[in-house]
Amino acid sequence: MELAKVVEKKIIKDYFVLKVETKGPFNSQPGQFVMINFLDTFNLPKPFSVMDEKGNYLTFLIKNVGPFTEKLATLKYGDFLLIRGPYGIPIRNKIDLTKKYILLGGGCGSAPLIYFLKEYPLLVKETFFSFKESYVQSILPDLKLFIDDNIGKTPVEFLFQNKEKLENSGMILCGSKGLLKSFFDVFPYMKDWSYVSLEENMGCGTGLCKGCPVQTVEGVKMVCKDGPIFKANEVNLEWK
Ligand SMILES: Cc1cc2nc3c(=O)[nH]c(=O)nc-3n(C[C@H](O)[C@H](O)[C@H](O)COP(=O)(O)OP(=O)(O)OC[C@H]3O[C@@H](n4cnc5c(N)ncnc54)[C@H](O)[C@@H]3O)c2cc1C
Repeated sequence: MELAKVVEKKIIKDYFVLKVETKGPFNSQPGQFVMINFLDTFNLPKPFSVMDEKGNYLTFLIKNVGPFTEKLATLKYGDFLLIRGPYGIPIRNKIDLTKKYILLGGGCGSAPLIYFLKEYPLLVKETFFSFKESYVQSILPDLKLFIDDNIGKTPVEFLFQNKEKLENSGMILCGSKGLLKSFFDVFPYMKDWSYVSLEENMGCGTGLCKGCPVQTVEGVKMVCKDGPIFKANEVNLEWK
């Protein structure tokens, strides 16, 4: 675990962008995550996707959903955290690089896709960084967000009415299983051209604790070590 100092926090209600300074670069790539912990706890660390890395700075997009993220939300400038990683397979290492992709992120699932867009703009056809809450835009001012409420539709409903956007493109999706399932319920044929980044509860981040299994066509795999990105037609989203 490495020490990291909080250097910036932009918070709006239950969402916040957290920037930390590390001793040296983590050399993360889009799609990878790190395990974060506090200095004053014996709890297990928790996984968070890197939304950006520049020099010795890592940035995260986090939603306050429980005790751990609540505590992260109270951090102030100069506070320290423990971070280890990066873990997981970079998105770029799994996808077909001859295609262009529509990125569909649900809430904080947008974080790795925002990093992907920044690093590989030429691989991106269109983005749907989707949030139910319009206030999130205030902490991500430079990004075009898809706010469900503004348009009166979810991104899946929007794509259903604009199916031509999917022609000849791949998809990279990251978010809750609910979002992923709703997309493939409507577009089952897109499974062959899509990749899904899975969010599972996990303990270690390295494959040792076996806490984040996912059923695949090649048997049970671990989201932390074998993913979090998988080919959509290789994983069983209905499992568990
Ligand atoms: C690879 C990976 C990357 C992630 N990246 C981010 C990120 O960039 N930003 C972010 O805000 N969160 C991210 N998460 C989820 C984050 O780790 C959890 O939200 C966090 O651990 C919740 O801890 P808590 O104690 O605050 O809430 P808890 O009390 O542990 O959980 C609150 C609720 O969220 C559910 N939950 C907790 N962890 C997960 C999870 N991993 N997947 C689905 N549901 C979960 C619980 O079942 C519960 O209903 C990521 C998870 C994974 C596996």
